[in-house]
Formats: sequence, C-alpha cells, structure tokens
Amino acid sequence: MTQKKKNVKCPSCQQKGDWFSGKYGAFCSDRCKMVDLGKWLGEEHSFTEPLRPEHFEGYADLPPGSYLDFPESDSYK
Ligand SMILES: [Zn+2]
Repeated sequence: MTQKKKNVKCPSCQQKGDWFSGKYGAFCSDRCKMVDLGKWLGEEHSFTEPLRPEHFEGYADLPPGSYLDFPESDSYK
C-alpha cells in the first residue's frame, strides 16, 4: 500500500477529496458538516460508508436515540 491519499465524497456537496485527512471527517468543510448534522437531526439519514467514531463527535450531548422513540411524531422534523 503506497497510496497515502484516500479520496472520499463529501456527503453534503458531493465534492471529492482527501477529506478524512482533514478535521471534518468525511466532509470537505465545517459548513458541509453542519449541513449534514442538520439532516441528521431533521430526517432519516442513510450512510453510504461504515460508521467511524469521529462521526459521533459533537453528538455526545444528544440523548441516544431519544428522537427515534417517537417515529410517529413530526415534531422533530
Ligand atoms: Zn462538502
């Protein structure tokens, strides 16, 4: 393995780059990260890649799964 860069696609803007070597995880920028966080909190989110621990940085304050306990409720959208 001589490949040092691993291009990934930013989940928000679809831009490709070596985002994992940056500080925003899979995202190209803080803005895209926040955009995706909004999607996370607002609607169903399907991952296109395996979960990594850094994906949950910033989510630590959320009660685990509490918003999933009321799937019939629209108040979280
Ligand atoms: Zn982006």
